Amino acid sequence: MLLAAIAMQVTSVVAAPAERPYDHVVVVSFDGMRPDGMMAADAPNLHRLRSEGAWATHAETVGDSSTLPSHSSMLAGVEVREHAMSFDDFHPERGFLRTPTALYHLHDLGFSAAMFVAKPKLRHIALPGSLDRWSLPHWSCERVAAAAAEYLASAPAGLTFIHFEEPDDAGHRFRWMGDRYLQAIGRSDVCFGTVLGALARRSDRVLVIVTADHGGHGRRHGTHAPEDLHIPWLAWGPGVQRGDFDAPVRTTDTAATAMAALGVTPPPRMTGRPVAQALSAGPRTAPPEASPTAPSAPPAQPPGSTPPGAAAAARP
Ligand SMILES: [Zn+2]
Repeated sequence: MLLAAIAMQVTSVVAAPAERPYDHVVVVSFDGMRPDGMMAADAPNLHRLRSEGAWATHAETVGDSSTLPSHSSMLAGVEVREHAMSFDDFHPERGFLRTPTALYHLHDLGFSAAMFVAKPKLRHIALPGSLDRWSLPHWSCERVAAAAAEYLASAPAGLTFIHFEEPDDAGHRFRWMGDRYLQAIGRSDVCFGTVLGALARRSDRVLVIVTADHGGHGRRHGTHAPEDLHIPWLAWGPGVQRGDFDAPVRTTDTAATAMAALGVTPPPRMTGRPVAQALSAGPRTAPPEASPTAPSAPPAQPPGSTPPGAAAAARP
């Protein structure tokens, strides 16, 4: 039933024939990173991308500012009531979110799709048939970044999602905006540098979106407090409209932006909208290829009902 419903929805997704602004989109989510934390931390890679890219001064996550609900909205482009991933723990028996993700749509069109994550519960977002690569190498960002960098060295056109968990872990253990929290952002930034190093060796057009699932205050999050809801959101790449912008961004816009960046019209059910500043620096100077690359070989690690990370230690 679920798969049939998904198949019906996918038929409404079409590839825009004439324009593919980017060849690859990399969404990097720094779990629990507040925008002011990002700016206060020793994080030269993030600061450079902010100054060189498009920075949203008003970006918010969904009302349920918890990791699994908000990441589901980030990647499916719909509110929590739509995808129904309202819990925030790993329950393999509860299956997957109810709406297709941007990864699912793009994979269906022949793009590559991959997730590199630090928390087992994100497996709930990895819909069967939506990925060429699912990777849960370890909780540490060094391991996640290394796996992602290796993949990105040769990944064909498509969407890659990367998740670092250190800021959230430090916020819960020590306090949001405290020294240990800012140090955790700095550590994540070094890991981010590993990813950027891999992207620098690519010759195609790559859009990087930096964001987070939620912020936090004290040693918690998940409330409607502004400190929990306000998230960083920046786009960096050869086509972005450089500078800060005030237009509100919702985390659901990330999925729609990723699809539009690859020349694919987001499906009507997706309530998020492409962020123009990520896409609107002007026409390309070189004509894009007419269509995405052919579907790749069957995935080496096909998603299944029993996630490989099921035995991994749960992280906060
Ligand atoms: Zn948390």
